[in-house]
Amino acid sequence: MATLPTIRLHNTLTRNTEPLVPLEPGHVGIYTCGSTVYKYAHIGNLRTYLFGDLLHRTLEYLGYEVRYVKNITDVGHMRDDQLDAIDGEDKIERAAETEGKSPMEIADFYTEAWLEDERLLNILPADVMPRATEHIGEMVSLTEQLLANGLAYEVDGTIYYDVSAFPSYGQLSGQKVEETHAGHRVEVESDKHDPADFALWKRAGERRLMKWPSPWGDGFPGWHIECSAMSLKHLGERFDVHTGGIDLKFPHHEDEIAQSEGALGHPVVSAWMHGEFLTMGDAKMAKSAGNIIRVADLPDLGYEPLAFRYLALTAHYRSKLDFTEDAMHAAASGLARLRRAVSAALTDGSVDLADEPMASYRARFTDAVADDLALPKALAIAHEVVSDADLADAQRRAVLLDFDRVLGLSLDAPLPEEEPLPEGAAELLERRAAARVAKDWATSDALRDELAALGVEVHDTPEGQRAAAAR
Ligand code: AMP
Ligand code: ZN
Repeated sequence: MATLPTIRLHNTLTRNTEPLVPLEPGHVGIYTCGSTVYKYAHIGNLRTYLFGDLLHRTLEYLGYEVRYVKNITDVGHMRDDQLDAIDGEDKIERAAETEGKSPMEIADFYTEAWLEDERLLNILPADVMPRATEHIGEMVSLTEQLLANGLAYEVDGTIYYDVSAFPSYGQLSGQKVEETHAGHRVEVESDKHDPADFALWKRAGERRLMKWPSPWGDGFPGWHIECSAMSLKHLGERFDVHTGGIDLKFPHHEDEIAQSEGALGHPVVSAWMHGEFLTMGDAKMAKSAGNIIRVADLPDLGYEPLAFRYLALTAHYRSKLDFTEDAMHAAASGLARLRRAVSAALTDGSVDLADEPMASYRARFTDAVADDLALPKALAIAHEVVSDADLADAQRRAVLLDFDRVLGLSLDAPLPEEEPLPEGAAELLERRAAARVAKDWATSDALRDELAALGVEVHDTPEGQRAAAAR
């Protein structure tokens, strides 16, 4: 087998961008923390799943065989993580109560809605999508193992992890145990030995719907133990990459390391990767902040879902990305530009990507994506291909469709049919183009108004003005 290109990834644990050395040559196992299925996902959540998809697609583009596991959290995620024991409210149970449905109906409904959003964004399906409620046995065993290893204790049917017994606790997030106290609400009564300890298994209160028998009585798992149990089961005792949004670094992933390594006695994950937030108005997009947009809202705002995927490619996954109308508008025109270039040729039948200059473009694209998923750079290379007048239409098409295996923008999608412009519009557009070349902005603006009166909207883009019949 030919040697595959090396991919360099930023590892939150080591704080370095380092080459990934797969545990099994040519194969990469990835675990992504999936959605808690009690509400619709918003496009901020989906930015994080897009990041996982870009890693998945990049590895496959480079020739690796990927086993991708993304879980479904359908129990145990509390509205307030600090209310560990029986007082806490499970997000799924709460939604079930509000919507008058069973927890299972809630989970099924929002799982389907989430997966539909992923499909609309061309996120490739994971190989395994384990549900937390189908892994309760594994979670109980892991909890038993942690008790046996002296890393956990029971208080009245609830099992807590004893953070002080795991010396490297805090290494991922860079927090010292004492500092983690600051984030804990002191007014909350708790029977934990220490505020930094967290529940592995919780005793079920009387009103609790989702509960299972355990050696400690009826109860349910904590959110963090779920990901330890499901990742170990589906990827083995050591695997390559674990991803999630930046807010999962602490406490979720810190706790996952303490659990998995505490149970097994050795490191489990080679690289921890975290994606930055999507913001809107410079605040994190979040249901609680009331600034959420769903994939299903995008068409009403005038954008196809894949324009959002394009937007996600314009920022590195470790940078914040602000969702604005201007940015979406630019994304939609960038996407249209790539698609026009692809549709200029009907086939790429005779093009050999190993020939020059295609091979050089591919090599540069490969270097970009293999450099910690530098998608903005990769996208710029795609636009260079569009601008390269020396390429034949079929060559351009072939290279862009090859890049699309990573970009996932459906670049061969049919172009939307443009309505013919009304009579007289063409002449006004020509005059306006001339006025703009002459930097005669007053005439240009006056002509824009005349066009608007005819029902024609004009947008000025880097490639010149673009006109469409207003709908
Ligand atoms: P949740 O359903 O709240 O568990 O979140 C699901 C995923 O979305 C997690 O990986 C979060 O880190 C991520 N996430 C939440 N809000 C945002 C945001 N505004 N931008 C990007 N990722 C987010
Ligand atoms: Zn998780």
